[in-house]
Amino acid sequence: MNEKDKLEDIFEYTLDMFLKSAGKDHAEITQFNRWRDAVVDANMYTFEVPHLHAQTPQVEVLRENGEILNLICFASYNYLGYSYHPEVIQSAKNALDIYGLGATGSPVLNGTFDIHNILEKKLSEFFKRESLGTSLFSSGYGANIGVVSAYCHKGDYVILDRSSHASLIDGAILSQANILMFKHNNVEHLEKVLNKIDYENSRILVCVEGVYSTDGNYGNLSEIVPVAKKYGATVLVDEAHSLLVAGPGGRGVAEECGVLDEVDMIIGTFSKSFGGVGGCLIADKELVNYINYYARSRMFSCAIDPGVTGGLIKSLELGSGPDGDQKREKIKENAKHLRSLLKDKVDIGTAHSWIIPVIYGEEKLTIPLSDYLQHHGLDISLMMFPAVPKNRSRIRAFVTSEHSPEQIEKGAHILLKAAKEFNFLLDD
Ligand code: PMP
Repeated sequence: MNEKDKLEDIFEYTLDMFLKSAGKDHAEITQFNRWRDAVVDANMYTFEVPHLHAQTPQVEVLRENGEILNLICFASYNYLGYSYHPEVIQSAKNALDIYGLGATGSPVLNGTFDIHNILEKKLSEFFKRESLGTSLFSSGYGANIGVVSAYCHKGDYVILDRSSHASLIDGAILSQANILMFKHNNVEHLEKVLNKIDYENSRILVCVEGVYSTDGNYGNLSEIVPVAKKYGATVLVDEAHSLLVAGPGGRGVAEECGVLDEVDMIIGTFSKSFGGVGGCLIADKELVNYINYYARSRMFSCAIDPGVTGGLIKSLELGSGPDGDQKREKIKENAKHLRSLLKDKVDIGTAHSWIIPVIYGEEKLTIPLSDYLQHHGLDISLMMFPAVPKNRSRIRAFVTSEHSPEQIEKGAHILLKAAKEFNFLLDD
């Protein structure tokens, strides 16, 4: 095989290809490593690239060949820049000094610190409803798998939007409940699905999201939540990409859509706008007490690091106050700016959030395009089948409140140059 054929071969890869092998020979491991080595040898391996400092709008990364690249970053979920905010860092350092590095225990057994309780209390108060409590998890993924699998069991129903995050799907599988899916954001289809089951006598959990990160669109919560409630379902809203960013005071899309009072469970992650790590369930106190014991990802896993927890308390304090209000204005302004530079030139879909997809289509462009973007100055996220439908591969730009107009303009310029080079400019 000549060099060109070899490259064509590795570009044909999609993530699902290595999942199909079963049996003693572990062919998928060998095949995956062969593919990975070929991409590394071609100096095109853009994944898992180590960042050399905090997730600021401009970052330095180290490629596998030792090359250091200075990039404008549209790949991080650090929406409000709190991961490197001096007050957040100081608050984390203070907690680190008092409590040490790790919690060294599961929350129920011996890993709970008073600082965890403070964060829980502040999160419950953030939603301004007396009846609410908060359960902390060491990741957003852990929160979803733990909550869904503790709440639903064999014979129950978990109903998911087709664009649901992997953690909701995995939670549903783990629960052993019946899993049903409805077309993305489609309330009529949800109603059809609900009508097919004995909804009057079943426990049903409908899971939706505040912002869907593949298209950057809002969950259609104002229609979906009332319909789910009409059929007696419990409603979970994953606000991973929207807490502290959407809604009044940053309380998320459910509040922005006017349905927060009808939502039973809010899931949050601290790895995005909070700039840290961890996840939470905010729900009725009785439910929280139950989840604290029965969510296996919480019971059998260590509590969030106390230092991180100290930082999260400060992120929440800043994000729910005037600092957050300013940053929420800014992130929307920045997203509008980037969209205006890309609109009508490339396919950016129709959504209006701070996540902007740029659809380039063919899976086989992913590796060379990703390499091109890094080498031309952009740290950005690419996504392909099976995470999105075939031939709908996309770049996703995660805009933050911290990008300067110049960084946005430079980023758009690089994206459009790539679109010309790889032939996905509209009307070209
Ligand atoms: N839910 C959604 C919708 C997400 O996008 C993510 C992560 N991207 C998670 C949950 C998991 O969050 P974490 O990374 O904090 O585990």
